Parts: sequence; structure tokens; C-alpha cells
Amino acid sequence: MAIDLKGKVVLITGASSGFGQDAVRLFANEGASVIMAARRIERMQAQVERIQKAGGAAMATPVDVTNKADIENMVKSVIENYGRIDILFNNAGFGRIDWLESLDPARDIETQIAVNLTGLIEVTHAVLPHMLERGSGHIINMSSVAGWLAAPTYSVYAATKFGVRGFTDALRREVAHRGIRVSGIYPGPAATEFGEHTGQSSIKKGFKIPGFVTMTSEYVARRVVQVARHPRRSLVLPWWFVPLIWLDRAFPTISDWIQISVSKKYHS
Ligand code: NDP
Repeated sequence: MAIDLKGKVVLITGASSGFGQDAVRLFANEGASVIMAARRIERMQAQVERIQKAGGAAMATPVDVTNKADIENMVKSVIENYGRIDILFNNAGFGRIDWLESLDPARDIETQIAVNLTGLIEVTHAVLPHMLERGSGHIINMSSVAGWLAAPTYSVYAATKFGVRGFTDALRREVAHRGIRVSGIYPGPAATEFGEHTGQSSIKKGFKIPGFVTMTSEYVARRVVQVARHPRRSLVLPWWFVPLIWLDRAFPTISDWIQISVSKKYHS
């Protein structure tokens, strides 16, 4: 039976754009109270006002997920205002997609790990005790197909998203018997602001992802809301990445050969 999201308290990180922003609107449409968390507070305030005007419930809280004090304040403010967190959508993240030697150690490598992996773990660590106390809750972690398929120029991004997958699977097995559900979301390319932050690598200039494989942000957000209504272990989007993931595992030599050929062409 589907879970009714009306009245659920949903905390969403990375809520100022892309999947997070669309998920805020869709959860609010379902009657949930939504807490938006990200750094760009003005953008979130504008959406909070739109939701409130339409009769929905939302609030925005500024957070940099690399900052422990911000995370503590965020969770404290949600608990003070709503008394609980039913659903945590750990979505904040970005990708710097380039050859490893071209990545800046601090800006690209450390920060990517700090936001995508450590930040997600720290937010979960801060929220989980409140869910354990009540014996219920749902943690939905945003990974990527890059959490299954490690392509050239995705080295650090894939490391963070493989990490999110490992964290998600281990945590699910740890807390399921305490009433907490844990799901992983693994989307392929989608049209969001993500592409504005990936950098200008030679592969980005030469190798364009065809438009027809690119999902809309709203579609991904809609599927996340579906996972909240019908909890499941994982969701790979679009579905045809499932056989690709299987092929990558079953025939690693062929997969290596294809991807090394791409690297040879663009890695000058
Ligand atoms: P966007 O760039 O549109 O959204 C990223 C969100 O993360 C923004 O709200 C941004 O808010 C937030 N964010 C970034 N850094 C921080 C930080 N330090 N602290 C708090 N929030 C932060 O991209 P998407 O919507 O595409 O990305 C959402 C998630 O989906 C990411 O985890 C991404 O890796 C993943 N993903 C994206 C895919 C795609 O093709 N678009 C495919 C697969 C996965 P602000 O800057 O205001 O802090």
C-alpha cells in the first residue's frame, strides 16, 4: 500500500535548484511539510513563499553540508519547528568532470568528496538519532549511475557516488530492523544546473551527451516522490541503465576496451 505523504515532514538538501527544488514542489503538492536546505537562501525563500501562498507548508534553512555547525543548526531548527523528520532526501551534490590531473586538489577533489560523500554522511548522522528515537523514518540518498559505472573523467565524482551507494546499502542493513528505510537513487544524465558546475574539460567539448538520453529534472523528482510513497532499495533511472550496469559487470574487458578508446580519442 502506498504511504500517504500528507503531513509528513520532509527535509531536502540541495533544494535550491534541480532535483531538490522540483522535489520540494512535488512533496508540498502531496501535502507534506517541506524543509528546504542549501546555501542560496534567497532562491529557497522565494519558493517557500510560492508554496505558502498556494496553501502548502514549507520553510528554508541555510546550510553548507561541509559545515558541521550548519548541519547541527539545520536539524535543531527542524526539530524545534516540526518535532520530527519523517523523510530525509540527501540530494546536495555537484560533479567536477575532468581528467584527474586537471582537477584542483582543494576546489575539485576535496570539496567534491566533502559535499557529495562526507556531507551526506554527516547530515544522516545528525538526523538518524531522531528517527531511531521514534522507530520510523525514510532516508533517500541521491547517488548517480556513476555510483555503478566508473567512466573516464568521472574518477572523483564516481568515487563519491560509489561511496554513497556503499553507505546506503550498509546503513539499510543496519537500521531496517529499527523501522528506518534507506533507499538509493541512481539517475543518468538530467537537465539541471549540474552541467554548469562540471568544468570545461576536453571531453566535455568533444563528447556531447545526446539530448534524447537526458531526463528532465521534474521526472527524476517525481520518481523520488514515488520512492517515498512506495519505498524500495534502489532506483536506477532511466531503466535501460540496468542492463548496461549488468554488462559492465559481466564483461569488464569489453567495457574497459570501449572506455579506453574514448579516453585515447580525447585525452591529449
Ligand atoms: P543542481 O546543481 O541543480 O543542484 C545541486 C544542489 O546542491 C543545489 O541546490 C546546491 O545548492 C546544492 N549544493 C551544492 N553544494 C552544496 C553545499 N556545500 N551545501 C549545501 N548544498 C549544496 O544539480 P542536480 O539537481 O542535478 O543535482 C542534485 C544531485 O543529483 C547531486 O547530488 C548530483 O550529484 C546528483 N545527480 C545529478 C545528475 C544530473 O545529470 N543532473 C545525474 C545523477 C545524479 P546551493 O548552491 O544553493 O548550496
